[in-house]
Order: sequence, then structure tokens, then C-alpha cells
Amino acid sequence: MQLLHTPADMQQWALAQRSRGIRLGCVPTMGCLHDGHLALVREAQTRADQVVVTIFVNPTQFGPHEDFHRYPRPLADDLARCRKAGVSAVFLPQPAQMYAADHSIYVVEEQLGNGLCGAARPGHFRGVCTVVAKLFNLTLPHVAIFGQKDYQQAAIIRRMVRDLDFPIEVVVAPIVREPDGLALSSRNRYLSTDERQRARGLSQALRLVRDAGETDAAAVCQRVQTLLTETYQLRVDYVAAVDGQTLQPVPSLQPGVAIILAAFAGTTRLIDNTLLGHPTDSAQGIPAP
Ligand code: AMP
Repeated sequence: MQLLHTPADMQQWALAQRSRGIRLGCVPTMGCLHDGHLALVREAQTRADQVVVTIFVNPTQFGPHEDFHRYPRPLADDLARCRKAGVSAVFLPQPAQMYAADHSIYVVEEQLGNGLCGAARPGHFRGVCTVVAKLFNLTLPHVAIFGQKDYQQAAIIRRMVRDLDFPIEVVVAPIVREPDGLALSSRNRYLSTDERQRARGLSQALRLVRDAGETDAAAVCQRVQTLLTETYQLRVDYVAAVDGQTLQPVPSLQPGVAIILAAFAGTTRLIDNTLLGHPTDSAQGIPAP
């Protein structure tokens, strides 16, 4: 497994592979790898000859009061997981190598990123788009895999690839969950035992949406809000029923609608979602409480 530390080395490696006719897959991550990330790697391996994992905690997507400095960075463990998974190369640059001190160009998406997590985290998607555009230019993949876990992010990346003509196929892979339904996340390790218990509320809320048989979006979102707040004692950031493509709010639930939510357990912000009527919808398998 190649370890590539600098942008120049990364790009050279990718160019060399491409010149040999090798099809490249890329899985961008912030590290602290778990089985959700590894599922993306496996998906990439079915679609490419060689897979690059990028591990970069990207400063430009964190707000000033967010967890950039304390974000977990268990690098040795991450590399062991990548090696075991048969990853061909890992790109692990430092922020100073990715961003010149006087860098002044950003990629800004102006529609899909305004609401939901974009409203709660100003500048977040500008940082995401900018770093993913850079990672695409450095890893030069034919195919890139993102997780449905970050539903809005995946929609924005698809839009960026379309609108800026990146010659890259974007694949969105299903959410990987713990046995009790909690979506795997690097941030789950911040949770205390009590918070971890209460964090089940997010996936239980999605289960409620599926089981309720109710189609009035406002009524369902209200029930979800009550469940999260009262039963699971979580602080809700938002609960939304949106069109799965445009991310615009919809009045009624039907196939193609995404239910997206974000809530705090203590100080940890957790997200989850389900796309109604989708064959790989992981919310199907969420167990009863
Ligand atoms: P992160 O390291 O959190 O930036 O995530 C890197 C990629 O892994 C993103 O495309 C995420 O959507 C994806 N991902 C994170 N958690 C999961 C999960 N539980 N299941 C599937 N994909 C995930």
C-alpha cells in the first residue's frame, strides 16, 4: 500500500496509474475509519482496479467553534484497516500542504447547500466542495464513492461534478448501521454511555416514519421531533421531509422523499436520513427499540 503525503506525490502516482490504463476509485474521508468507510472501499473495489483512500481532516469545513482540533486522528489504526481492506494507496496530506497561506479560491454551491446542515453550519459545504474538488484533481479518479449517511453532502457533490464537468462517476453507498440502528460515525466515540443510548433516537425516529403510514409531512416531522426530544432527550437541530433530488421541502411523504434529521446528544451533533421507497434503504433494517 502506497502512502502519499504530498499533493504532488499523490497526483504523480495517479497520473502514472492512469497512463497504464488503470481505472482508479477514490474514497474521500476524514479518517477515524469504521465499517461505514470500509463499505465504501469495497464498493469502490467493485468499480475500479485500484482504490485510493484520502484521510484529511479538512479545516475549511469546520466552523470556528466546531471540533476540528479534537477530531479523532487514530492514524496507525486507519492505515492498518486500509491495508487489510486491500486499499492501493492512502493520501494523507497536512493542511499546510493543501492550502497555501494565501489561498483565495473556493467552490461554492448556491442552492442545495442553503438549508438543513448548511443552515446550521455556515461555510461547511463551501469547505467540503473546495476540498473534494482539490482531492479529485489530485487523485484523478474515474469513480468516487460517498456515503448516503451525509445525504446533503452527496447531493451537493453530484451537483458539483455535473456543473463543473468533472469526468468522474459519483456513487452513493448505503448507510452502515450498528446492530441497534445507530448510523456508524467517527463522532460516535464522543458519546458517553448515556448519550450513546439516547443516540438510538435518530434511527428510531426514521423507523417511526416508515411504520406510521402517515403521509402528511408536517405531522410526521412533528411526531419525530416529539420522539427525539421527549423520549430520547435529544436537542433537535432539524427534522425535514425534502425532495430527494432538489432537497426542497415537500408537503407529503411518497417514494423519492428523503427524511433528514440532525440532533445533539450532549454536545455531539449526529445526523441520519432515509430515502423513502429506495431499494437499499438501510432504515428498513432498524430494529424495534
Ligand atoms: P467522513 O470521514 O465522516 O467525512 O466520511 C467519509 C465518507 O464516509 C463520506 O462519504 C460519508 O458519507 C461516508 N460515511 C460515513 N459514515 C458512514 C456510514 N455509517 N455508512 C456509510 N457511509 C458512511
